[in-house]
Amino acid sequence: MRIGRILSPVHSLGPGERLCLWTQGCSKNCEGCVSPELQKASERDIDEETLWKLMLQIAEKNNCTGLTVSGGDPLEQSDSLLTILEKAHDRFEDVLVYTGFTINEIQKGCAGLSGIKCLNYIDVLIDGRYVKELNATNCVLRGSSNQKIYYLNEKMQPIYEEYMKQGRIVETFAHNQITIITGILNEVTNYE
Ligand code: SF4
Repeated sequence: MRIGRILSPVHSLGPGERLCLWTQGCSKNCEGCVSPELQKASERDIDEETLWKLMLQIAEKNNCTGLTVSGGDPLEQSDSLLTILEKAHDRFEDVLVYTGFTINEIQKGCAGLSGIKCLNYIDVLIDGRYVKELNATNCVLRGSSNQKIYYLNEKMQPIYEEYMKQGRIVETFAHNQITIITGILNEVTNYE
């Protein structure tokens, strides 16, 4: 699986202590994409078994109860994603996945048969391309208002609704002289 980064513990992309995995590669090319460096489908390629062991180690160390998978677009690597989600489903209390596909596209097979199967192992799905003009501060956990939250595990709905009362959260991580911002950013307007 092509991986952009793994960070933990993350609190800005879902409730509780979370392990966050960003996949590498997305062909959707949304204007204003918050992670343009993750669009190119190259760089780190790691076999799923090794990746899962690494994820487990980090999750144990940080007492993570939740997993967030973002990108890039994780559903553009649906075979690998399915392998990871089958394992994660038993380990984590909730699994949140972001994708640039809409749920209808996934159900129609646009992300392959594995993409359809992935839906069985996702508790919360946030779908759709980012639309810069629809970035609104009241869209907690979502970049733009066209994106929808699907509680595929309905038990998670009250937990997420309580979490989202805080509004958007942004965190920064510093590593190897690089600063990484996680969470959902407001659209910045340049008046100059
Ligand atoms: S779907 Fe997400 S990662 Fe892909 S280009 Fe759009 S905003 Fe960026």
